Amino acid sequence: MLMTGEQYIESLRKLNTRVYMFGEKVENWVDHPIIRPSINCVKVTYDLAQDPEYKDLMTAKSSLTGETINRFSHLHQSTEDLKNKVKMQRLCGQKTASCFQRCVGMDAFNSMFSSTYEIDKKYGTNYHENFKNFLKMVQTEDLVVDGAMTDPKGDRGLAPHMQKDKDLFVHIKERREDGIVVRGAKCHQTGSINSHWHIVMPTQAMREEDKDFAVAFACPTDAEGMYMIYGRQSCDTRKLEPNADIDLGNAQYGGQEALVVFDDVFIPNEYIFLAGEYEFAGMIVERFAGYHRQSYGGCKVGVGDVLIGAAALAAEYNGAQKASHIKDKLIEMTHLNETLYCCGIACSTEGYPTEAGNYQIDLLLANVCKQNITRFPYEIVRLAEDIAGGLMVTMPAQADFDSDLAVGRNGETIGEVCNKFFAAAPSCTTEQRMRVLRLIENICLGAAAVGYRTESMHGAGSPQAQRIMIQRQGNIEGKKALAKAIAGIK
Ligand code: SF4
Ligand code: FE
Repeated sequence: MLMTGEQYIESLRKLNTRVYMFGEKVENWVDHPIIRPSINCVKVTYDLAQDPEYKDLMTAKSSLTGETINRFSHLHQSTEDLKNKVKMQRLCGQKTASCFQRCVGMDAFNSMFSSTYEIDKKYGTNYHENFKNFLKMVQTEDLVVDGAMTDPKGDRGLAPHMQKDKDLFVHIKERREDGIVVRGAKCHQTGSINSHWHIVMPTQAMREEDKDFAVAFACPTDAEGMYMIYGRQSCDTRKLEPNADIDLGNAQYGGQEALVVFDDVFIPNEYIFLAGEYEFAGMIVERFAGYHRQSYGGCKVGVGDVLIGAAALAAEYNGAQKASHIKDKLIEMTHLNETLYCCGIACSTEGYPTEAGNYQIDLLLANVCKQNITRFPYEIVRLAEDIAGGLMVTMPAQADFDSDLAVGRNGETIGEVCNKFFAAAPSCTTEQRMRVLRLIENICLGAAAVGYRTESMHGAGSPQAQRIMIQRQGNIEGKKALAKAIAGIK
């Protein structure tokens, strides 16, 4: 059954998720002003699935149950599905101007489904069945699942088993008849607090000595021994100020990252998807990262659409919309943004079926997609800031625009003074101008910059991770053979 957005929020209240922020436990984290925008953002993935205009894109027929499910919990059955995934993410980015968090679970589902099939084939384990049963529950109950991959990693020069503190990589602490006990942490986990469950995966390829670190499993977000420490964002405490919604730029939506700690969490056998078959850790990572690198060709493009629109509005409000350099900058921003979309669509179109039957994206093209994402949003941000002008970072607060305090020679209030000096083209009010500039600030430098800028660099793997994949997949030997043939080199 599809949940409504409201039901999703109510479902979170039933969890005993342990959340800490600013050194304290947050009891009612669902209504906390800093956390709530990120919950609203995930809620959009439920609301759009109920909307007749978008439900075709937002839902799919489950390959496991035949029921209609949210596309965020779907196993892609075709290249059409892969493309629809990217289109759905662009739509959600357009509606939230933020990271809507639910994709990490979707990408984990598709990676784990095909990988567990191949592990079972080699070892006769029961991971694929375990995983299918878990996913059926997720699909039927319409749950949000965090796909947790990135370990703290400690000294990057050392393998997991060589770390002085083994907890820097999630690992199996104890093997029992009925399950395993895991210990460690996952860093910068997108949407972890807002998720009902977590799928934990290894962070990198592993060798035999690291086999206790080659572990994948599912566990409820409020499992005993599990807790989260909230990651703060630029300008986050603005959300605590009264009457500052204009200053927020995007008062409704935001992303969320947290440090997730597994402080001896017991995982029953039925939720284990990998426990020591170390040579498959790399496969899980490569597939998950591939899907998530495809994802960015949708979500970041959607946020880019909002930013381009905001820049065009800012130009209009300044009365500068007819200047040829402004038009050219908007063209350039559009060109860059659509190039990213081309990459997301291309790696989907070139997708292929896995042995388990779900569809995998083209790995080379997905890595090219994400490599461009580490660059183009920065250029789009630069152009948006160029068009917006310095006022986006120097203008007074909403409280000043609202102030009745008389300060002028003739008793003018602070509000009147601000409105007088920040008035621009007659097509807009100063409030409208403020709003759009704050939105640009939010996406380029504020809370949403976590999701649009820095996440473009490091999310789904930092640039070097893609370059390694591009090197592996780029077939330089094949290209050398082409050159030899043309040049007549025997
Ligand atoms: Fe989804 Fe993009 Fe956020 Fe990743 S960064 S969870 S793909 S919205
Ligand atoms: Fe991300």
